[in-house]
Amino acid sequence: MNTPASRYRGRFAPSPTGPLHLGSLVAAFGSWLMARRVGGEWWVRVEDLDPPREVAGAADAQLRTLSAFGLVSDGPIVRQSDRHALYEAALAHLLDTGFAFHCHCSRNDLAASGGIHRTCRPGARRETPAVRLRAPDDARIAFDDGIHGRYEQDVGRDVGDVVLRRADGFWAYQLAVVVDDADQDVTDVVRGADLLDSTPRQILLQRALGLPTPRYAHLPLIVDDAGQKLSKSLAALPVDASDPLPALRLAWRALHQPAHILHGIDSIERALAQAVAEFDPSLIESKPTSVAALHNCAAT
Ligand code: GLU
Repeated sequence: MNTPASRYRGRFAPSPTGPLHLGSLVAAFGSWLMARRVGGEWWVRVEDLDPPREVAGAADAQLRTLSAFGLVSDGPIVRQSDRHALYEAALAHLLDTGFAFHCHCSRNDLAASGGIHRTCRPGARRETPAVRLRAPDDARIAFDDGIHGRYEQDVGRDVGDVVLRRADGFWAYQLAVVVDDADQDVTDVVRGADLLDSTPRQILLQRALGLPTPRYAHLPLIVDDAGQKLSKSLAALPVDASDPLPALRLAWRALHQPAHILHGIDSIERALAQAVAEFDPSLIESKPTSVAALHNCAAT
């Protein structure tokens, strides 16, 4: 159906830190809709590289919940925990080419600079150093986000040298996500706006690795009544996989699509078909949506 020039491959990449909640459903549904409306593919990837934050069984539970919502990966579901060799190779390349360096600094060493690393403390020594990507002084990165428009960040000034492998030996999300998006030929990254300010450092990393930069669109966050991001909040209740339509309607509203389009539909399959037919990404606004506003709207 698609010509190679219009090839579209999106993805949803949840971390298995708990059950799927409304915020993650919005990212899943939004990225799925963006792909489906252009006849593109949508792949799921399990981002399980941070064992201390993970919950046993959460990855499988998330995948079961996605299936209950009719959101099924078009490609093989990979788990980052099976892909250490890929990250190892990318890291070795960055060290060889001088883009990355071993860093012996401790958290205390960075306290004076607000946690931002620019140069190593002379003489600092750790048994297991971290590895960082060097952010050059002129690392001003700009990109055009599909929802937020032009976004610019001075990575050297605002972020500093980016951790690629932590001192505790775990891979940093920034390295794994860049390697995986490229390895999986992802053309379009659609995800929550909490990752908007991670994108410039991911682009810097893509350039250092000689990888293509996908298109990006960052979906509005859902916030609770106190304005806190839902996925980090204790109020982030799991979505009900046994009765998916109400949560799907809320996610549709959170994407600023007209509520009436999904009214009166009684099956997930018909709701998804109708949503794809009527989805208008130009309606999505960049500002966060409060969960209370969504529920009020759903009730009327
Ligand atoms: N694994 C990340 C998360 O669950 C998302 C990564 C991404 O979409 O780039 O927050």
